[in-house]
Amino acid sequence: MPDRLSYDAIVVGGGPAGTAAALVMARGGLSVIQIERGRFAGAKNIFGGVFYTHALADVLPDYWERKPPFERPVTEQGYWMLSPDSALRIMHKSEQYRQEPAGAYTVLRARFDPWFAAQAVEAGALLITRTTVTRLLKDARGFVIGVDTDRPDGQVYAPIVIIAEGVNNLLTRQAGLIASDLPPRYVALSVKEYLSMPPKELQARFGLAGPREGVAIDIFGDATLGLPGTAFLYTDQAGISIGVGMLLEEFVCHRLRPYDVLARFKNHPVIRPYLEGSESREYGAHLIPEMGYDRMPRLAGNGVMVAGDAAGMVDALHREGTNLAIIAGKAAAETALAAHEQGDFSAAFLSRYRRDLEASFVLKDMKQYRHMTDFLDSTPGFMGTYANLLNDAALRYFTAHGIPKRSMEREIVSLLRERRSFTGIAWDMLKLMRAMRG
Ligand SMILES: Cc1cc2nc3c(=O)[nH]c(=O)nc-3n(C[C@H](O)[C@H](O)[C@H](O)COP(=O)(O)OP(=O)(O)OC[C@H]3O[C@@H](n4cnc5c(N)ncnc54)[C@H](O)[C@@H]3O)c2cc1C
Repeated sequence: MPDRLSYDAIVVGGGPAGTAAALVMARGGLSVIQIERGRFAGAKNIFGGVFYTHALADVLPDYWERKPPFERPVTEQGYWMLSPDSALRIMHKSEQYRQEPAGAYTVLRARFDPWFAAQAVEAGALLITRTTVTRLLKDARGFVIGVDTDRPDGQVYAPIVIIAEGVNNLLTRQAGLIASDLPPRYVALSVKEYLSMPPKELQARFGLAGPREGVAIDIFGDATLGLPGTAFLYTDQAGISIGVGMLLEEFVCHRLRPYDVLARFKNHPVIRPYLEGSESREYGAHLIPEMGYDRMPRLAGNGVMVAGDAAGMVDALHREGTNLAIIAGKAAAETALAAHEQGDFSAAFLSRYRRDLEASFVLKDMKQYRHMTDFLDSTPGFMGTYANLLNDAALRYFTAHGIPKRSMEREIVSLLRERRSFTGIAWDMLKLMRAMRG
């Protein structure tokens, strides 16, 4: 890089938040440099795999004609609650999920992120890969005026820097937008494996009629040894994305190794048959910020804004993150465009970015679920207790024992009582409802 490179805006990160920001600013006529540390955008990124198209349509209305590398539309989705040997399934399948373009597709980030980044490049953004932003540059007033990178003479200047660095929020901290690193109580660790399987075999196992059908299953209970966390099983074009995630604190407190939890989950008697004969192709671990609305960083400072995972914008309950990241990247970009028009890059002016997000589903949802992590933390046995209970009750309900149904019902009631008192159940449900209402 030559000395004193100047742009209208710098974006740190080539994930969904950064690319959405770069795309919108480039389309708005700003000169934009997007810096990504990986070999290519998406090279280091993994996620579960359900991508929501509403956010993409918001920044790229003609995305469908641009042939995004989607794996399968999600035409059936739901929850499985696992006990050690059973699964209670609540699945939803609808013709409406089959309309093209669908509302959700499975994607592999190593394919999707480079495609998305190419759209920003086509709009005029300059994408620099294999380059890590090492620090923010500030002027005497404390305004962020650029970034330093790990390249020789690698300083780049711009009156606006949008930080979209993901969960490892080093620059967000350096910008003074958040005081400290995320405590293990508010960050989840997830491990994911991609298993390849011939499409025909995959379709037969999951009951899919062809390549235009796909399944997304989120799994609770025994999948994470009954601890607060979730597992997932999503179908890709010629493979399965499988993974488990729990709060970092749970791994530490229970001395569990993430890969052991995943291996145990894969070996569950209900799960194993779906995976048999598949080949492991990719394996990785990634953190998910779960600090919630109340612990989010400030979203703007002088000359700087933060979007996506770096700002904790994740709705774990609905496995949404990429859509929040894209909408936030877009909102930050629109604020940057307005700041250029006004020539005002102060934190006071950039605070309209937060106002825009407060008016959108991004911060409304985060606000609504602000107590979710605390609920799970204060009710640690919730998932395990209820998953086991429901499975045992279902076993009694669906089995003919040659006893009158009234006795079977009494058995189920006493089973409930043994595991959790009625007051306990009522209290858990009340706490859950409160946590879900914000
Ligand atoms: C296991 C797992 C399952 C998930 N499942 C889903 C799901 O099914 N659906 C969903 O919508 N969301 C899901 N999420 C959440 C989703 O992945 C994130 O919310 C989303 O990727 C956030 O996008 P982002 O752009 O903010 O950050 P990221 O995607 O993390 O991108 C950050 C980028 O910045 C780069 N970077 C970081 N630091 C620097 C630096 N200093 N210099 C240069 N580049 C840098 C990184 O290499 C990376 O490319 C899941 C996450 C995980 C971990």
